[in-house]
Amino acid sequence: MPSENKASVRVAVTLPVEETYLYLVPPGFESRAQVGCRVEVPFGKRKVTGYILEHAVPAEDKDMKEITQVLDPEPLFHPSLVPFFQWMSEYYLYPLGRLIQSALPGGLNIHAYRAASLTAKGEDALRLLPGRSEERKLLTWVRDHPGRRAPSPLDRLYAFEKKGWLVLEQRMTKRRGGPLIKRFVKAREGVALRDLAEQDTRSFKTKNEMAFLEAVFSSQGILSEELSSRFTNGAYLLRKWLRKGILETYQASVMRDPAGNVLLPYPPPKNLYAQQRKALEIIEKQLARGTFSTFLLHGVTGSGKTEVYYQAIRHVMDLGRQAILLVPEIALAIYTEGILRSRLGDRLAVYHSGLSEGERYDQWMKMARGDVPMVIGARSALFAPFPKLGLVIVDEEHDPAYKQEEGARYQARDAAVVRGKMANALVLLGSGTPSVQSYYNASRERYTLLKMPERIEQRPLPEVQVIDMKALSSEGKEEQILSPALRGALDEAMASGKQAILFLNRRGFHRVHLCRSCGKPLRCPNCEVSLIYHLRENRLACHYCGFHCPPQTLCPACGREGLRSYGFGTERLEAELKELYPRLRAARMDRDNIRRKGQTFELLKKFSRREIDVLVGTQMVTKGYDFPYVTLVGVIGADFSLGFPDFRAAERTFQILSQVAGRAGRGEDTGRVLIQTFYPDHYAVTAARDHDYPTFFQKEIELRDQLGYPPFSHLACLRLQGNHIHKTEDMARRMVEHMIQVTGSWPKRGKDLQVLGPVEAPLSKLKGKYRWQIFIRSKGPNLLHVFLKRVGERLKRMLRGSGVSLTVDIDPYQML
Ligand SMILES: [Zn+2]
Ligand SMILES: [Zn+2]
Repeated sequence: MPSENKASVRVAVTLPVEETYLYLVPPGFESRAQVGCRVEVPFGKRKVTGYILEHAVPAEDKDMKEITQVLDPEPLFHPSLVPFFQWMSEYYLYPLGRLIQSALPGGLNIHAYRAASLTAKGEDALRLLPGRSEERKLLTWVRDHPGRRAPSPLDRLYAFEKKGWLVLEQRMTKRRGGPLIKRFVKAREGVALRDLAEQDTRSFKTKNEMAFLEAVFSSQGILSEELSSRFTNGAYLLRKWLRKGILETYQASVMRDPAGNVLLPYPPPKNLYAQQRKALEIIEKQLARGTFSTFLLHGVTGSGKTEVYYQAIRHVMDLGRQAILLVPEIALAIYTEGILRSRLGDRLAVYHSGLSEGERYDQWMKMARGDVPMVIGARSALFAPFPKLGLVIVDEEHDPAYKQEEGARYQARDAAVVRGKMANALVLLGSGTPSVQSYYNASRERYTLLKMPERIEQRPLPEVQVIDMKALSSEGKEEQILSPALRGALDEAMASGKQAILFLNRRGFHRVHLCRSCGKPLRCPNCEVSLIYHLRENRLACHYCGFHCPPQTLCPACGREGLRSYGFGTERLEAELKELYPRLRAARMDRDNIRRKGQTFELLKKFSRREIDVLVGTQMVTKGYDFPYVTLVGVIGADFSLGFPDFRAAERTFQILSQVAGRAGRGEDTGRVLIQTFYPDHYAVTAARDHDYPTFFQKEIELRDQLGYPPFSHLACLRLQGNHIHKTEDMARRMVEHMIQVTGSWPKRGKDLQVLGPVEAPLSKLKGKYRWQIFIRSKGPNLLHVFLKRVGERLKRMLRGSGVSLTVDIDPYQML
């Protein structure tokens, strides 16, 4: 093949493959086949979507295939993003094409599928097949659904194809998303409203007519649908003035910006506080240098971090570079967007999974075209296609929500540091309770520590009181939800017209269904966990697989009528509150109650308008919202998490307690926090009580060092799942055996690697699958990857056809 005159490109295909492939660019496609564009390419017998990574020299000795289509009129990402995608793919062991696919807005991704159509031979066969056979059923379906996506598994259809009964052909789903085109109205060039009115007063007889024209003339172009919704006779008036040649219409694409709802008006501060000025001085100096550096901003809740973020973003924009602001969840993204939009106007994009596919596409293209200099978003905004990135901010950097738990299991905070390094950008990690890992990096001077220890306007930190629930329950009373002390504090807050937040990290009404005869709990049939009673639906539900059933008293284990409910969750807390305080306006914020994407926002709005007195909720209430009238925070049981088999349990508990406590006393009045706990002496609890991060860190880092946990080691979790209990366990054992053999054969570096397990996962059965875990602990991150690469092929071969699946989780957060 005379390929030397042809251009070729390297493509990452959206398949579970590790390699990338070269394809020729056929004549006529050269100008369109740019890096960052999607292409359709032949792969084996199929056609698949891929992404152009670079222009390349055609391989001489190979018969190369050609690109069959370029799917985008303009690139979706800048070439500078390619090395970052590659790093993500290699570090988190996830196929490159799939990774890029998951980073891009969903509306783009077209999928190939197979459609079947019956042949004449197939028609004959259908007549001859016995009435109730599976084959007949399937062929009938094909006859009745020509061109539709064929039902899987496809092997049955391949067999029919061989017999000549049908033809299978490949099709692509239609592209959804894409820009939205709308009709706009504007006044014709050179016409002034005043002249019109003077010329011909008779024309303005119709009601609204002047207001209608003013609306058009005062705009640069107004949506025609807006005119017809604002003026009942808008359509008529528009026709009339179009005919007169005074107005004209045009088509334009619009950006589907989510309405810039501002939750609380956020006036810019008149001047900065000393600690904010000091932090900004250092940040701005580093931004001027334009090189990579990571800062950890340790600012207690209420110390004014958001203002520092805003000023740093303004600064980087002035330097002609772009900024990414990551927040841990959608509600917080919407909230922060409101604050920033009131000051930056349209110069920002938002990007998170709460947007529709079309909205995500629009926001992405705004960034890719360079129309906006910054983006606010959850995890996925880390991939923002900015070519001149200057600043990456990770707010609440300690939040575990930054860890993606499916697909590419990346840690957005960690990856943000890598992206910043590649872009020569400044990375700013902010938190009131920094992660142990980040604080350790700061203590080793890998990160620069910036401190903002004071709350702005010298508001004192809330007074925290720890209530020992062990002492209360040993008095022989029934299980208590609200201690007398907390009830007293609630009375006081309500009497003075203030608001309160009650935090409980467990959903549902009751927590366990136990049999009084045999003592066995009622468990989900698919998962090894207790079913939880929900009052509103009056049913028992599994929080992992969604299984639910009506409440029952008959025990399946012993057959007696012995099942009773125990324990409590947020739903029961809310109910108890309403019973104790009938006139109180209480609302609940947890995943059961928040289903639509706007609901969190509505609830927060109501709370901020003081239409709700007490907000009850799970983690969702602990995030960084500002409510000046909240003077009381009650923590009902954050320490339930201390019992988890997870080396981060103490860190999580400390963070949650501190963050919840930080919600109190953000306004004029001093706040008060009551923590009900069964572990009153645990260092995570006492350090949170004393607002003492350094003491907590010291204790925790010593323990981690002794036990060899991160940051003193690097972990990978190999998670095995299978339908058969023995096959899954057996596979886990064989894998461990093999891996120990390999480490044993590495005389030097082998000692720095440990293969731990296999152990049954704490949640030993989920969604009908049995689960086993293997941990690999390594002294350094590189060694871990070298090792996984070395054993990877063999492990894959062992899995083939075994019915057991394996996921590898690098730097895992999920230990259950
Ligand atoms: Zn029983
Ligand atoms: Zn279940």
